[in-house]
Amino acid sequence: MQKYADKFLIVDPWKIVENSLDSDHRLVAESVFSLANEYIGIRGYFEEGTVLQTLRGSYYNGVFDVERSTNQSAYKGIVNETHFMVNAPDWLYTTVIIDNEQLQMGHSDISSYSRVLDMKNGTLTRSFIWRTRTGKEIEMIFERFLDMTDVEKAYQRISCTPLNFSGQLYICIGLNGNIIQESRKKKYWKEESFQFFTDGAAMAWSTIGTGQSVASAYLWKTSNVKDVHNIHETGIVAQELILTLTQGVEAIVDKFVINRVYKNGWNEEKNKENLLAYLQKEIIDLDYKKALNAQEEYWSRVWNTTDIEIDGDDINQQGIRFCIFQMQQTYHGQDPEHNIGAKGLTGEAYNGHAFWDTETYCLSFYLFNNLNAAKNLLLYRYNTLPQAKARAKMLDCHGACYPVATLNGNEACDLWQHASLQFQPSTAVAYGIYHYHRLSGDDDFLFQYGAEILVEVSRFLISRGAWNADRSGFGFYGVMGPDEFHMMVNHNTYTNFMAKKTFEFTLQTLERMSREASQLYQHLKESINFTEQELDEFRICADRMIILYNEKTKLFEQHEGFFNLPHTDIRSIPVTDFPLYHHWSYDRIYRTDMIKQPDVLMFLLLHNSEFDPDIIRANYNYYEPKTIHESSLSPSVHSILAVELGEYDQAYQFFNFATRMDLDNYNRNTGEGLHTTSIAAAWMNIVYGFGGLRSDGSMLKLAPILPAKWHSYSFSITYKGYQLKILVMRDSLKIKAEQGEGTQLQIVLYGKPVSLVPGVNNFEIPQKIRG
Ligand code: BGC
Repeated sequence: MQKYADKFLIVDPWKIVENSLDSDHRLVAESVFSLANEYIGIRGYFEEGTVLQTLRGSYYNGVFDVERSTNQSAYKGIVNETHFMVNAPDWLYTTVIIDNEQLQMGHSDISSYSRVLDMKNGTLTRSFIWRTRTGKEIEMIFERFLDMTDVEKAYQRISCTPLNFSGQLYICIGLNGNIIQESRKKKYWKEESFQFFTDGAAMAWSTIGTGQSVASAYLWKTSNVKDVHNIHETGIVAQELILTLTQGVEAIVDKFVINRVYKNGWNEEKNKENLLAYLQKEIIDLDYKKALNAQEEYWSRVWNTTDIEIDGDDINQQGIRFCIFQMQQTYHGQDPEHNIGAKGLTGEAYNGHAFWDTETYCLSFYLFNNLNAAKNLLLYRYNTLPQAKARAKMLDCHGACYPVATLNGNEACDLWQHASLQFQPSTAVAYGIYHYHRLSGDDDFLFQYGAEILVEVSRFLISRGAWNADRSGFGFYGVMGPDEFHMMVNHNTYTNFMAKKTFEFTLQTLERMSREASQLYQHLKESINFTEQELDEFRICADRMIILYNEKTKLFEQHEGFFNLPHTDIRSIPVTDFPLYHHWSYDRIYRTDMIKQPDVLMFLLLHNSEFDPDIIRANYNYYEPKTIHESSLSPSVHSILAVELGEYDQAYQFFNFATRMDLDNYNRNTGEGLHTTSIAAAWMNIVYGFGGLRSDGSMLKLAPILPAKWHSYSFSITYKGYQLKILVMRDSLKIKAEQGEGTQLQIVLYGKPVSLVPGVNNFEIPQKIRG
């Protein structure tokens, strides 16, 4: 299928720039210009209002509401109540009026428009000249940013310079809780309390279903105010400032905001009466310039350790920086109650839910840039273990079954064929623990938290799996693997293989724990009551796991019977049929050998070190032509494996739109929100793909190649306390090692062990793999 770019942004290495207000890209631009700091996210909407398409979206990580599902089912185990990230009150609420004319993008007479997202400091700045009906011209600049460290704080600056007049301007700034959840056409917030200050106001709201609350307070500063009027309507609190402007002189209004979430609800707040005034005190001393400097310092620290530089490809340079910027914005491990939604904090699509994407696609970025963040993602799974146990019970099983889609740990996917049949979230959590431990060596985490999860997931797998009729083999019946085009299949090899690995890792962990941390081991044994008999069962099921593999052809069969399915020639499907789930009857996509996304190839990547190149080649050649990549997670995995197989052109073709999936709206749905987890896959595509990184085995491997179109590129990873910067040129490679604790670091480079010493290490790229 041919996907093509829908370009509307200017290419720049550090900025995302648009200089036209074309009506086709308004929603896409709102997603692309989103800001977030893990705690809160805000789409790039025009705060002063617009007649163009818009989704005024602001979201708090983990703030949700619940609703009875539309597909009510009497069948046990099917989710009847779902939850979703709720579009939250608008703290950028603004109106601007001159001579009774309200500024409205798309309606007002605007020229010299530009909007810039600066990835060096996280500011979003928009400027233009507004010509009113009475002929007045005024240059307006709107700027906003979210504090990356003091995450409750946010900043807005509005600057106005009258070009051909002196006179008055009305500017109304406030907070608006009358927000509609676009996807459900419903309002979920009710006002709890409000308060005015001389130079600001505050309001608190709660969600109608979950009773979670948000309170926001703001203060403004300007030297041009002549008069102030307070405005309170249900759900809204604001102040109208009358500014006196002088021709040619810039007037600035700064707005300092604090947004505080009370996940357990407003009513639980003891100091309810004084709370809003108390919030005000926390922002009284804020200074716009100081906060901006701190932002710049924050981002400079981030870029120092995470940047990827590409020489010779400005388009992907901008693209990959955008991906890194968005990953950092969406999540950087502040709070183990947070996770990464498939759309981050940028829209309502996928309801804000986190999927198995977190452990299989996103975790690697954090493992090599921010180990603490990686650990917190796994702690999130530990903290939601009770919900996973409850879910296992709903499915008539034991142990813990992690949800397909969730915000609060409960299963929120109301499509039974996913929620009841897909177990890759559970094995992904086990894999995440394995992967984290491989790279961090963090036994404390493994023994205190990981081991319990591993036992509970293994218990679930034992209870959900079954022995075949002659009891010669164990496996999973009636499941759906990562390829969502085949449901209710038996022995999906991904599921069986990953379950086998889960049992093995659980046993290894417990065995080591019993020797090295016997007290913790005893404690765990007593608290969750596991028996030697159970451990034997894990061992036997791992040994007898049915893995459909043909020695001769070296092919894994995706599931029992896959090889005999009718064939669909995917090249014959017209491009107008995509996305298929909109154009083909639902059951039609389940009946042939057409695959949505990597399934066999996925475990060949996750446990890459265990497979010979011949096996990877055979399976790649067999499955790749059957895959339509209907999931945006799919092409990067193919690209990574294609590099390994020396198929550099194909690897580059698969990579082609990875970094710019959203900037160029390749899937034509970026308007609904960014593809945040695919953004993580784009990072993997460069580092694991072109960089040849493999981190699943006992030693870290690198095997960088340089794509033919690039002059050079570099990427950075942190590994065992070393900061490694890998610069890949046409024939040679430099690895700069900094800050390590030891004197040498052992890795495998192009299949051979090497020792890196602190400082610059030079290597030749083997002739046969020069890109
Ligand atoms: C994919 C899943 C993925 C989900 C969220 C689906 O289209 O098939 O594997 O978890 O999107 O990204």
